[in-house]
Amino acid sequence: MFINTEIFKKYKNIIAGFSGKTDLKTMDRYQERLFSGGKGFKIINLKQAHTDNVVFYPGYSKDIEADAIITNQKKVILTIRTADCIPILIFDPSNNVIAAVHAGWRGTKSKILKKTVELMCEKYGCDKEKILFSIGPSNRKCCYDVKKDLYDIFTIDNENYKDFFSQIKDDLWRLDILGINLKYLIDELNISEKQIEIVDICTFCTPYFFSSRRDKSDMRNIAFISLQ
Ligand SMILES: [Zn+2]
Repeated sequence: MFINTEIFKKYKNIIAGFSGKTDLKTMDRYQERLFSGGKGFKIINLKQAHTDNVVFYPGYSKDIEADAIITNQKKVILTIRTADCIPILIFDPSNNVIAAVHAGWRGTKSKILKKTVELMCEKYGCDKEKILFSIGPSNRKCCYDVKKDLYDIFTIDNENYKDFFSQIKDDLWRLDILGINLKYLIDELNISEKQIEIVDICTFCTPYFFSSRRDKSDMRNIAFISLQ
């Protein structure tokens, strides 16, 4: 299963999309095949660790744990591997800057998406009104079951987060991490909804995408973006 981004479509200098279930053991070969049309492209796989570290290419070290990356270089394929977390692809067509973000609940809580946008503006002079976002398949509020520990982590110092939890049972909530990330974009960064594409796929509801909460195998979904 492969999903093309719609929002970047009219820009011919962008390659971006969301690819479904891929075996981690053959991931490298798969990525080479996926991008085989683009000789000379460099594939970047971050050492993802649910941090809020945002790095730049060039200039980052492979050994550093990071969950978002920004570049203005051509022929560099930024990739994000996800199971149930949210992959977010970002493009500023005015400045030709791209970014890829991995936001699970930890990254969401520490506002990695907001941080990435702010760093794009700071380092490359990106304009928040022009930046486009494509939010890929993830475990959505229909299925993202969490217990009280997580409910407490979010709501203990900020009551506003309660809006993103719906209680199912005594010790069972459903969390809307997509909703929280959208709130950061729309309410805190003044991004217009027109600048945001949401791929309407829940990884738990859709067997073509890997969900660690549903599947026992060791696979991942891949999000990728590159300037060419
Ligand atoms: Zn679902």
